Amino acid sequence: MLQITPLGGLGQIGMNMMVIETAQDALIIDCGVMFPESKNLGVDLIIPDFSYLQKIKHKVRALLLTHGHEDHIGAVPFLLNHLQTKIYGSRFTLALLKHKLTEHGKSKTKLHVVQPHELIQAGCFKIEFLQVTHSIVDGMGIAIQTPMGTMIHTADFKLDDHPYHGRSITLQKFKEYGKKGVLLLMSDSTNVEREGKALSETKIAHEIEKICKTAKKKIIFSVFATNIRRIEQMFEIALRLNRKVVLSGRSLETNVPIAIQEGFISKKAASVLMDLDDLDALEPKKTMIICTGSQAEERSALARIAIREHRLIQVEKEDCVILSSRFIPGNEKAISDLLNNLCRQGADVYYDKVADVHVSGHAHASELRRMIGAVKPKYFLPVHGEYRHLVRHSKLAQGMKIKKENVFVCENGEPLIFHDVNRVQKGQKMNLERVFVENEGLDDLKLDVIRNRKKLSFSGIVFVCLVRDKKTKKLLSPPYIWTMGVFDEVQHAAFLKKAHHYIFQVADQYAGPSTDFSEEVRLQTRRFFKRKTGKKPIVKPIVIDI
Ligand SMILES: [Zn+2]
Repeated sequence: MLQITPLGGLGQIGMNMMVIETAQDALIIDCGVMFPESKNLGVDLIIPDFSYLQKIKHKVRALLLTHGHEDHIGAVPFLLNHLQTKIYGSRFTLALLKHKLTEHGKSKTKLHVVQPHELIQAGCFKIEFLQVTHSIVDGMGIAIQTPMGTMIHTADFKLDDHPYHGRSITLQKFKEYGKKGVLLLMSDSTNVEREGKALSETKIAHEIEKICKTAKKKIIFSVFATNIRRIEQMFEIALRLNRKVVLSGRSLETNVPIAIQEGFISKKAASVLMDLDDLDALEPKKTMIICTGSQAEERSALARIAIREHRLIQVEKEDCVILSSRFIPGNEKAISDLLNNLCRQGADVYYDKVADVHVSGHAHASELRRMIGAVKPKYFLPVHGEYRHLVRHSKLAQGMKIKKENVFVCENGEPLIFHDVNRVQKGQKMNLERVFVENEGLDDLKLDVIRNRKKLSFSGIVFVCLVRDKKTKKLLSPPYIWTMGVFDEVQHAAFLKKAHHYIFQVADQYAGPSTDFSEEVRLQTRRFFKRKTGKKPIVKPIVIDI
């Protein structure tokens, strides 16, 4: 028996995690986080539910990391609170992870750097990491030889025939496995809705350089801090245009030195780098600022620049601002406000919709077809995508002559069970909870807490304090009512007076040894407030017997 269990990333974008197991051994592929749609409820991160892994932790032989994006490595420090295993990944992936683990007080964790095409044995599995192109350097797909056959996980990938600096990664290795026979292909579905193929990084680099050449004053370039290849492009453009580069944004200030140290940005290109505090000494036309905040994240460098709250950087008329990333769904309104603010200040603003300043790191439909054509798997499981992406990718695979009954659409917690090479079926879906993290991981928040926070923000809270005689259980004084977030207490003083009177009557009516006294007060108070406000606030009775 062999079982594939997705614990994240199937039916959603982000929080990628997959388990492959036999009766004796198990492997984990990736361990990522997801960012909440809204920070309003105080949630910093969402991480996978590790309860299934806790049950099988005795047989987990390795954690394989495909690349250094947060949705693939971000939850590793949390996983290590539950189990210890060997961690494998490429040089850059593990350099980023090491920094993250140090921040979490886990700097002593041993990490195993793998080279492309190096073979690793983990339990009964033989593993090979395969280089892929993605929007972060050093990304890897994974080929796993299992007792039942070879399984290939593409990880996040795209095919770029004209990558920047000509560092093309071909499908050759995937084809070699395809020739030998592949049992299962798990492939990235993120961009399956986009037909054709993505623009090449070389084309993007040329377009960005063209824009930079026309810039009269400062260039402010906003990008994801993990997009090292594009940051390197900007360093080289700055070198050619005789500009100096300063960085603004915590993640950039962390990742760029790691990339330079690991040789992913050349020392020559990095020679343009200056300290942000020296910005004043630079003429605007000799300046390039690379910053975070292309998604208008609150408190990010670009968000602060746009509202003139950045300590050192101000936008001026004729500055050139480039947002080199796509607008992630859910962030459009914030990005739109940010663009408006930058335009108001007279900047020339370039972004995805108006100029070729960004290309996605995920394969479009025709590239996905090429991957399936190279690997020629017997079975196909689309991964990394919302449900509609998975369904569309499954149809694309059927169009590539994979038998309909051999293509599966699974969501998180839905295992795929290989009884033998000819008998594969979906298992019973596990109940997985989303685990919410706040305070940098000091606390795990349960779903109930989030529900209560939502409720509090929607309808507020009412405290009712009742003091009773401990023997007779009769009220000794009128109830004290205190509301928060329900309405303005001064404006609604008359209603509150009525509420006092009503609760006093209720309390009197239910006074006695009944244990339901508190619950009855809660229900009656909630009903009374609903009649006034149309909403049911949270009611907390506090009963003191003296
Ligand atoms: Zn990625």
